Amino acid sequence: MTLDHPENSPEYEGLKVNKGIPQPDAMSPDVFDRIHRIKRRVLTVDDYVEGILKADINILSQAITLVESAKDEHKGMAQDVINRCLPSTGRSVRIGITGVPGAGKSTFIESFGKFLTSQGHKIAVLAIDPSSERSKGSILGDKTRMEELASDPNAYIRPSPSAGSLGGVARKTREAMFLCEAAGYDIILIETVGVGQSEIAVHSMVDFFLLIQIAGAGDELQGIKRGIMEMADTIVINKADGSNVQRAELSKSQLQTALHFFPPHESGVEPKVLTASAYEKKGIKEIWDNILEYCNKTQQNGYFESKRGEQSKYWMYETINEQLRDRFYSKQKERIKVEEQRVINNEISSFTAAFELLDDYFK
Ligand code: GDP
Repeated sequence: MTLDHPENSPEYEGLKVNKGIPQPDAMSPDVFDRIHRIKRRVLTVDDYVEGILKADINILSQAITLVESAKDEHKGMAQDVINRCLPSTGRSVRIGITGVPGAGKSTFIESFGKFLTSQGHKIAVLAIDPSSERSKGSILGDKTRMEELASDPNAYIRPSPSAGSLGGVARKTREAMFLCEAAGYDIILIETVGVGQSEIAVHSMVDFFLLIQIAGAGDELQGIKRGIMEMADTIVINKADGSNVQRAELSKSQLQTALHFFPPHESGVEPKVLTASAYEKKGIKEIWDNILEYCNKTQQNGYFESKRGEQSKYWMYETINEQLRDRFYSKQKERIKVEEQRVINNEISSFTAAFELLDDYFK
C-alpha cells in the first residue's frame, strides 16, 4: 500500500501536492528495449567466437572474464570458446617481460608498445601478478601505468587475473593469450614481477623472454636469481640515459662476460645484452630487431615450433596435476581427517595412510 502524502489530507491546510503525470521516455521505447536486450542477453559460445574473430573488444573482454571465472558452469563454456578459437591462434610473437619493481617494465611496455603499434602491429598486454592472490589487487598491468598505450586503439591491456593459485592465474593468462591472438593481436606481451615462480610460469608460455635490469644495482639487490638470467633471451639494461649512460654500458659488458659462463641456450641463439632508455624511447627499435632476429633464427632451426609444442605438453601435464590434486582432496576430505589422526596416533604409517587414501580414490 502506498502512503498518500500527508499534505493531501483534507485537514491539511498548506500546499497540495498533485499526483504528477507520467514523463515521456528519454529514449524511444524501441531503442531502449534493444539496448536492454543486448545488454542482458547471455552470450552463447557462437556469440563469443564470432565476436572474438571479428575483433570485438567488448566480447573479447567478456570472453576473458569467462575464462577467468571460477564458476563451474562457466568452465565448460570457456573451454568450448578456446577450442573453437584455437585454429586462429599461434600467428603471433609471444614476449615475456620481467624485472624487479622499479626496473621500468611499464615504462618500457608503453614505449615498446607505442613503437610496435606505429609499425602497424596490434599488441595485447597481459600480466601475471604473483601478489594478486594475497592482495586481491593488481600491482601489474593496471591501465593507469600505461595511459598512452591504453588509449591506443591497436593495443589491448588486460590486468592479471586476480584470484587463485599462481598455476591457475598462469593458465588463465595463457588462455587469454589465445583469445587475443584469435582477435588478431599479433604481438603478445606478458609482464610479470620477479619472485621466481611467476617468471617460470611466463617462460612456459612465451617465445621470447626479456629481462629488464638497471645498471649499478647488484644482482642481489635486483632480486634476480641466476636461473632467471639463464632463462633470458635478452637482458635489457634500462634507464641508460643522462648521467647513467656510462654505468649502463659498463653493466652491459660485465653481464655479457657473465653470460659466457652460462650453459648455451637450447634455442641455439646466444642471449644478448642491450641498453635502452624506456623513458627517452632509446634502444627500442634495436630490441625489436633483436627479437625478430631471434624469431627468424629459431624458426629456421625448428626450435620456435618445438618449444611451443613442449609448452602445450607442459600445460597439459600441469592441468592434470592440478586437477588430480584438487579432485582427490575434495573427494577424500572427510577420510583424510580420519587418516591424519591415525598417523598422529602412530596407529598407521604415513606411507600406508597415503596409499590407502589414494587406492580408495582410484578404486
Ligand atoms: P616497473 O615497476 O618495473 O613497472 O617500473 P616503472 O615503469 O613504473 O618505472 C619505475 C620508475 O623508473 C618510474 O619513476 C619511471 O619514470 C622510471 N623509469 C622507467 N624507465 C626509465 C628510463 O628509461 N630512464 C629513467 N631515467 N627513468 C625511468
